[in-house]
This record gives sequence, C-alpha cells and structure tokens, in this order.
Amino acid sequence: MSKTTKFLLGEEDIPKAWYNIQADLPQPLPPVLHPGTGQPVGPDDLAPLFPMALIGQEVSQERWIEIPEPVRDAYRQWRPSPLYRAHGLEKALDTPAHIYYKYEGTSPVGSHKLNTALAQAFYNKSEGVKALTTETGAGQWGSALSLACAHFGVDLEVYMVKVSYEQKPYRRSVIQSYGAKVYPSPSERTQSGKAILAKDPNTTGSLGIAISEAVEAAATSGGAKKYGLGSVLNHVLLHQTVIGEESLKQFELAGEYPDVVIGCAGGGSNFAGLALPFVRENLAGKSTRIVAVEPMASPSLTKGKYVYDFGDAAMTTPLMKMYTLGHSFLPAPIHAGGLRYHGMAPIVCHLYDLKLIEAVAYHQNPVFEAAITFARSEGIIPAPESSHAIRAAVDEALKCKASGESKVIAFNLSGHGHFDMGAYDAYFAGELTDYEYPVEQVEKALSELPPVGQ
Ligand SMILES: *Cc1c(COP(=O)(O)O)cnc(C)c1O
Repeated sequence: MSKTTKFLLGEEDIPKAWYNIQADLPQPLPPVLHPGTGQPVGPDDLAPLFPMALIGQEVSQERWIEIPEPVRDAYRQWRPSPLYRAHGLEKALDTPAHIYYKYEGTSPVGSHKLNTALAQAFYNKSEGVKALTTETGAGQWGSALSLACAHFGVDLEVYMVKVSYEQKPYRRSVIQSYGAKVYPSPSERTQSGKAILAKDPNTTGSLGIAISEAVEAAATSGGAKKYGLGSVLNHVLLHQTVIGEESLKQFELAGEYPDVVIGCAGGGSNFAGLALPFVRENLAGKSTRIVAVEPMASPSLTKGKYVYDFGDAAMTTPLMKMYTLGHSFLPAPIHAGGLRYHGMAPIVCHLYDLKLIEAVAYHQNPVFEAAITFARSEGIIPAPESSHAIRAAVDEALKCKASGESKVIAFNLSGHGHFDMGAYDAYFAGELTDYEYPVEQVEKALSELPPVGQ
C-alpha cells in the first residue's frame, strides 16, 4: 500500500471559473437554427425556456466564466473529486499502462450531473424563476436537478423515460426524496406525450420523447416554469469542465500526463467535462488522444450523420448541427439509460468533425464484463454508462500489454452504479442482449430529418 492511489486537492483548488472552449475553437460552432425560418436563433427564441445568464453562456466567446460563489460553495460538499491511480485494475490486467480515473460518483447524487444542476438551479433562482421542468433517462439527471432545486428553493417536475421509471424505481424515489414530482414518459400530461401514446401505447419511451414533454410543459406554462437540460447544450458542457480542470492539477501532483483521455458519451457532458481542458492543451501543443465511448445501440458519433436535427422526438427544439441517428430513432432499452440519445452535444460533434477527438462503440455485455473486472479490482461498482469508458480504458491497457508500451490512460468514472443493480442481476443471469446496430431503423429515422439547414 505504499503507492499513492488517490490524488486529493484542497477546497482552494476548486476551480474559480469554468472553461469555455468556444474561445479556442479553430473554427466557430455552426449556429443553432430556428426550425421555421432556418435562421440562427436569438436570445428571444430561447428566453421562454432558459434564464438569460444561461442563454449568454450558450453563445459566449469568453475563455473563462466565473463560477458564482453560491455554486462554488455548494461544490465544496464533494469537490474537488478524487483522481485515483487504478493500481488494482492494472494488476488485474497485468498491463504496463498507468491507469487513472477521475471519480464523479462522490457527489451526493452519485454522478457528475450535480455540477451543472447546481449552476442551472442557481441562475434560474437568481432571475426569479419559481419552477423548472426537465426530463431524465436513467434518473441521474432528475436526482441531480431535484437536489439542486431543493438547495436553491425552486420547484421541479421530472419526466422520466418509462423503461427506466420501471427498471430503476429507486432513482424515482431519490427524486421524490428531494421534493420533485416525477412522471413516467410518455405521459398523458402533454400533447406530445399523448400523441406518442396514441401511436404506440407500449412504447418504452426515450430521452427524445421525455425532452419534448418537459419542453412543452415549460413552454405552455405562461412563463411560470422554465426548463433545464442535463446534457448536450454548450452551457451544460461548460459547467462540467471543473472535472478536467481539477484533473490537470491532479496529474501535476501525480507527476504524469495522460496519453489517452476517455469518457462515455450519451449527450456528451461528462466526456466533455473531462476532455475539453485536455483539448485546449492539445491545441496548445500537447498530443493526448481523446476518445468518446458510445453504446452500439445508440452510436451517434460512430454511425450517425453530421446534419441539422431536432434535439427531441416531437420536433419542438431549435435545430442543432450534430451527429444524429434521427430524432425519431428509438434506441433499444439498454441498461445504460443515460446513453440512449439519438444525437450528441454540438461541441463534441464539432470536435469530432475537426478530428480533434475520436470515438468508439461497444455492446453492453463486454461493457459489463469490464465493469465487473473494475469492481473486483478497485472496489467501486460503476454505473453502466461509466462502464463504457472502463471498457475502452481496459482495451487500451490490454493493447499496452501486447505491445509492452507503458501509456498513461485516464478515464472519467462519471458515476456509481448503486441504483443499477438490476442491470448487474440481468448480466449475471446471462439476460443482457447485445442489440445489433439497427441499420433499417436508423435509415428510416434519417429519412425524416428536417429540411432546414441541410
Ligand atoms: C447521464 C450520465 C451519463 C451520460 O450523459 P453525458 O451527458 O453523456 O455525460 C454518463 N454517466 C453517468 C453516470 C450519467 O449519470
């Protein structure tokens, strides 16, 4: 036990500002378009849904955006989060690689999502917003925003993807414990939910559908409610950069620098949170490989098309240029619910298009196999989403074993899997399906892209 396994920082090392990669992009992001006019959206188009501070962050070109003191103060409960050297995993794999992971599961809700939830609740509260609506996939975002809303005194209603509402009942209870209301989506509460139920009463739901419902609930509230999104948007990725900024300092303590940085990518926020500060360092001369890991059931970067598409199923959001499988695509009900999204954060897509990052996709059985290896060697039971990153890190480490190279591999362990034991049960029972990539379904969804912006 003489080796250092944990690189801890003090409270003074909690970043004072978020890092905005828009200031350093070699080419600017493609604009977000209004689906009706095909013109770039302005603040007025977004004002019914978001507070002005977040709309400003969405398009800001400032490199550093100061973290408001009440948010930084709330971060003190668990930040800086630990960076671990995975000595146990290295030994289990018999690899010369040095493996590190940044652990975001130490937040009270067990994932990275609280980093942005607190910021979003704070800005809404500051602008007098009394209630928020949101969607949640596996329930992590719903738990995070419900805690953040409780902290800052804002009401919240959560539309939870039906398959997760049923598969992960305890996350629903967590959301309720923090005081939010939670509904299975699609629901009868919104026009978009009703329309989908009319077409397919047994639908498992999807993040795209739940987003439609939450957006509609806010947009039709006559200004009483605004909306919060847990991933994808520029301001969400911005808030997550505390992960990468802390990691850079922790690697200084470790006296190493990563050759490979890895994160799982659903909407792209935890991946970007770790990766964006390393992309900045790459643009300034470093040469770290940066890898996003997707599920084979919903592989937007690796198989999608880089086009303008809606962020939701009911075609209510502005159009974003992203790698997409089509807004009408319904991913198979894999257990990594947080990765079941048809699109990907525009920032992540832009970086992928510019070849500044890479992407890979995995089936869920090899992902759970890596999760078990990790749990037995490192003691932490990882979330199924995060386990995609573990799989990729393990494969990089095994490549090092084969070649004899000693690379430094870093991945983001975005959350723990304590509420995902049903998924582990299914894995142990041999009941997890490796859904084939649904070529025809995706082709159909891609034939339904909006005409605007193509
Ligand atoms: C939500 C979630 C994800 C996926 O969302 P991203 O925006 O891609 O980060 C990954 N891991 C965990 C633990 C999550 O809760």
